[in-house]
Amino acid sequence: MMRVNPRVDIYLDKIFHNAKVIVKSAAKHNIEITGVTKVYTGLPQIVAAEVKGGIARIADSRLENLRQIKEAGFAKDTLLLRLPAISQAEETVCYADISLNSEEDTVKALSHEAVVQNKVHKIIIMVEMGDLREGVLPEDVPQTVEKLITMPNIEIVGIGANFSCYGGVVPTPDKLSRIVELAGEIRNKFGLELPIVHGGNSSALKFLFEGQVPQGITNLSIGEGIVLGRETIDRQPIEGTYQDTFVLSAEIIELKVKDSVPNGVISQDAFGNIPVFEDRGRIKRAILAIGRQDVDIENIIPMESGVDILGASSDHLLLDVTKSNRDLKVGDEIHFTLGYGALLKLMTSKYVYKNFIE
Ligand SMILES: *Cc1c(COP(=O)(O)O)cnc(C)c1O
Repeated sequence: MMRVNPRVDIYLDKIFHNAKVIVKSAAKHNIEITGVTKVYTGLPQIVAAEVKGGIARIADSRLENLRQIKEAGFAKDTLLLRLPAISQAEETVCYADISLNSEEDTVKALSHEAVVQNKVHKIIIMVEMGDLREGVLPEDVPQTVEKLITMPNIEIVGIGANFSCYGGVVPTPDKLSRIVELAGEIRNKFGLELPIVHGGNSSALKFLFEGQVPQGITNLSIGEGIVLGRETIDRQPIEGTYQDTFVLSAEIIELKVKDSVPNGVISQDAFGNIPVFEDRGRIKRAILAIGRQDVDIENIIPMESGVDILGASSDHLLLDVTKSNRDLKVGDEIHFTLGYGALLKLMTSKYVYKNFIE
């Protein structure tokens, strides 16, 4: 076993399997899956597992990640998930085959760049369906299409909406039907094919499995569902998928019996909060060499019993291991499964080693 710490063990085969399961069940409803790679910074080894699992295209919110993916040479379209910034029009056209858009001025800048680079840039028009992040108001979609359709080297390939991101609004069948309806109106009015009707992210998976995603939705963009095997309405595991795709390992650097409540006058902690402590008497405390700079500690679960997370500073994670049956020693590793927020921070931290397991 690898002994670099802290590290994330990445089980590529489990990620491949999760992608395959979700792609298959979506295909039964004529829906393609776009694989969303942002939580793992678009690392090509993991993208390759998802591509093998059958995703239709590769999406990320960051151009740095899409660049890395383009340079790895996958034969799939790349999609930029965050609305492009006008100042990044050049990189957007260069590294993203498709982007999500809601602003006429931005598409104008993309059009200009696409002409310069002699490319056709594809766009999906985002519609505001209540979550109140990006999107054109539904009643403004026709006039938006009317303006964008004339722009050189721009091809409108779809419309879509985002859910469960800012407002926590759920992609209920009525909301998804409204998008399908709008797509129909746009097809009729402008003679566009509009192959991509995008119904959101992993929060739509529960409806997908229940067969409640309306006919006419052709795409879902899935991050967490593939990466951690969970739908995101109730955060329940998806049947037949793995949740232990990414495992955190961190090393014990101190192990001592001490009090559970600090001794002295208590003022602010390292983050400006006044800490509160539960009195557990004298306990066996372990310090792990990882901290809030690397991981979201509220979002990790120890993989063994008898290990309780007490708290953390920037570089130290404190555990109560009093109830552990293991004969723990300094130098031992403790392993954790991860929630989305923890995974995001770990994969982004340059201090955490990424260990690919084939
Ligand atoms: C991040 C993101 C997704 C993926 O979300 P998951 O809940 O991880 O599936 C999909 N669409 C957009 C626009 C995103 O920004």
